Amino acid sequence: MKGLTSSLWPIRYRPQPDELLSSWLVRLAHGHGLKVQTLCNLAFGNRLQVWNRDIDRLAPLWLIDELCLRTDTPFDVAWDTTLRAYEGRLYPTYRASGMLSWILMLNLYHRKRRGFGMQFCPRCLATDLVPYLRKSWRVAFNTVCSLHGNLLADRCPACGESIAIHRISMVRPDALDETSLAYCCSCEFDLRKAPVLSPSVYDAPSSNLLYGLSSALLSGLHDQTVWDLGRFQVMHHICRIMTTRSVRVRLREFAADACGVTDIDLVNGYRNFETRNIEERHHVIQLAAWIMDEPALRLTHAWQAGFIRYSTFLKGFDGTPDWYVRVVKKFSNWRTRPMYDT
Ligand SMILES: [Zn+2]
Ligand SMILES: [Zn+2]
Repeated sequence: MKGLTSSLWPIRYRPQPDELLSSWLVRLAHGHGLKVQTLCNLAFGNRLQVWNRDIDRLAPLWLIDELCLRTDTPFDVAWDTTLRAYEGRLYPTYRASGMLSWILMLNLYHRKRRGFGMQFCPRCLATDLVPYLRKSWRVAFNTVCSLHGNLLADRCPACGESIAIHRISMVRPDALDETSLAYCCSCEFDLRKAPVLSPSVYDAPSSNLLYGLSSALLSGLHDQTVWDLGRFQVMHHICRIMTTRSVRVRLREFAADACGVTDIDLVNGYRNFETRNIEERHHVIQLAAWIMDEPALRLTHAWQAGFIRYSTFLKGFDGTPDWYVRVVKKFSNWRTRPMYDT
């Protein structure tokens, strides 16, 4: 298409609030009447080999620069569409492969362990003038839409497949309209019609805490006055402890008992929180949030009751915040552990 090689493109959409890079790129392509792969080939040649990978995480700088140039978008706005913008906020340091704390895995190359890492809210999609995918939907603790209050979905309810934007032109190759992002890439189901599910609420203050965090995601976590990286890291460590398979660590059981809910069996095998399905994450994160609501008190009670040992509090935890060290240091001497009646 003429015009794609010039500096400014004929269509120059800016990212929508909290929009993901991949979603923005698809909208730009379809705005030009092109498949996203075609747009990329025409505009960038074969440089965009990352399209079949997690482009929102890899976010090559040259691509961000190109998009800024072609759409007249400020760099900060374009950068904010990438998961790298969470560096120093949700996870300490970016890396291209392996786990990043709180970032859901897509696992595009692992057919047997397909990741359900792209969540969506049916009501957000249904109320969008032009449906688009949100960056906050890639965050593992975000299980409830802070705008609509329903549980997010992590797969197509019709065919059970993951939401895979890289396959967007495969099922509906001629559908380059503005609503393309509202359809399942595997079976064409209209995701705006997905069932709206109410989330379980274990404990009102903990749910409010999670609601605050999900809401903060919508503004990119730029305000870190309440929850800084350290606090997110502690909650992540609590989730890791709660999903460990050790018989000596029963922190999840402790929190479930205290909240008066029945614990659920998690899928077997070692799995990071970021690769678990929405049901498991919603369960575990509520229990972790209950701890985080009053960490000093509740961790002390869990330790006193023998549900967790001192070593577990710090094991595999780098960059421990000072306040957390102060809390758990008290647990180093088991002789000081008073008898605790559960
Ligand atoms: Zn919503
Ligand atoms: Zn489907």
